[in-house]
Amino acid sequence: MISELNGKLFIGGSWKVGAGGRVPVENPATGEVIGEIAASTGEEVNAAVAAARRAFRGWADLPGRARSAALKRLGGLISADADRMARIMTMEQGKPLNEARGEILKLAEACHFYAEEAVRVHGEIVPNDTTDHESLVIREPIGVVAAITPWNYPAELVGWKLCASLAAGCTIVIKPADLTPFTALAIAQKVDEAKIPAGVVNVVTGPGSVVGQALVEHPGVDKIAFTGSSSVGLHIQRSCTSVKRMSLELGGNCPIIVTQSANLDAAVKGTARRSFRNMGQICIAINRAYVARPILDEFVAKLAVAAEALTIGNGLDRPDADLGAMASAAPLAKTREHLADALAKGARLVTGGSAPEGDEFARGHFFRPTIVTGCTHEMKVMSEETFGPLIGVMPFDRLDEAITLANDTPYGLASYVYAKDLDEVRYLTTRLDYGNVAVNNVDAGVMNAPYGGRKQSGVGYEHGREGMLEYMNFKHIRVRHDLPQGS
Ligand code: NAP
Ligand code: MG
Repeated sequence: MISELNGKLFIGGSWKVGAGGRVPVENPATGEVIGEIAASTGEEVNAAVAAARRAFRGWADLPGRARSAALKRLGGLISADADRMARIMTMEQGKPLNEARGEILKLAEACHFYAEEAVRVHGEIVPNDTTDHESLVIREPIGVVAAITPWNYPAELVGWKLCASLAAGCTIVIKPADLTPFTALAIAQKVDEAKIPAGVVNVVTGPGSVVGQALVEHPGVDKIAFTGSSSVGLHIQRSCTSVKRMSLELGGNCPIIVTQSANLDAAVKGTARRSFRNMGQICIAINRAYVARPILDEFVAKLAVAAEALTIGNGLDRPDADLGAMASAAPLAKTREHLADALAKGARLVTGGSAPEGDEFARGHFFRPTIVTGCTHEMKVMSEETFGPLIGVMPFDRLDEAITLANDTPYGLASYVYAKDLDEVRYLTTRLDYGNVAVNNVDAGVMNAPYGGRKQSGVGYEHGREGMLEYMNFKHIRVRHDLPQGS
């Protein structure tokens, strides 16, 4: 399954064995090497960009309906192969198989969503100050896109960029994370089967600092679509050698506010899901909870019960486990560091705090869902993105205090509110300085509506119609109309 993708690159519609060195890829649940990818060379990056450039005009000039049909074929092939693709993802990422399968199916949905958008690219006619002029505002695809993606959602974070680019009429070169490259190569297999024209989609692999950087600096790339950490996002913005369109979906440090009017059980259930799912390796994971003081103890006690009820396992052997391994040693080490920092500064450990016991967990990057209370903003757990299964809790007395604490961060990706009182809901949602606010639910991002961050969480949007417009330029055509001769 993976061996056929070993060392391969997808450039200009054909599979090539990469000429550069090899980078091993591990199963984070066992430490086993499952395959190796090619570190793409400069020539291979150039070849991929050149293939995308050559394919661009033909793809952009197709009627929207033809691009739509291609995306529908792609979505159909992906959902038909969901089991195999999910196994590849679990092997390299660690999430339980059922969850990986769900992510593949959501990628297929993204194909269908953007297939529908592709036939609704229309412009506007804008009135002028004089009646003899008319302004037509049309939309045109930007050109060649470089997509650079992280390892936490290896299918969806590639897919949103791929589907929106293709719908808009752009062509794309994808550089997936070196921890989870095989899911992207498996998507390229489906692109190939879907008979999407050669060069419209290309995948190169290798270290971000070399291969990703080469794409960022490449004069043939018109737009960078990046998802990853705020530090790498800022570095990319600074290291561009020419002006380029850019969307940056970066880190988060997401708060939840639970008021006294909330349905407490629903708030606990939502918090447990959004703090610990995917082992907390979600940019919109709940990192920190602010709970109305009178309900704090009950909230913490119930959240501990919910956390302890989550099952953990090797995602291949236990497809229905709630949680699998973390994707690598680095996010686990950061989780431990944030926990130690909180405890050293006076927080109290409520549950978790160590790896689960047993042979099954001996060689993988496992950790138990962890809750600390008595937190302050001096602690990293409250002020930095952990990207692991750790949540800090603190009480608040007044709504304004909760808002100040929630907004006290350089990030602005997602925030959560549980409250039944409509006045409270309006007060909080209008004051939270975040691109996404989920109220009485924890799914801050859905395919139908724009999803993006503020402040150090990024610029631009994915999802929704706005997600496709990120891949388009506006063109203003101003026409002067004379009265016809003899009218
Ligand atoms: P990362 O270290 O920033 O890496 C992201 C991607 O950038 C990887 O493909 C990486 O390649 C590549 N890269 C690294 N250095 C580069 C450079 N100099 N030039 C071009 N590309 C470069 O992030 P990560 O650790 O993989 O992912 C976790 C982060 O992503 C978290 O901060 C999380 O919040 C964020 N995230 C944000 C969203 C969102 O929608 N806002 C969604 C998911 C994740 P290599 O893997 O080869 O190093
Ligand atoms: Mg990294």
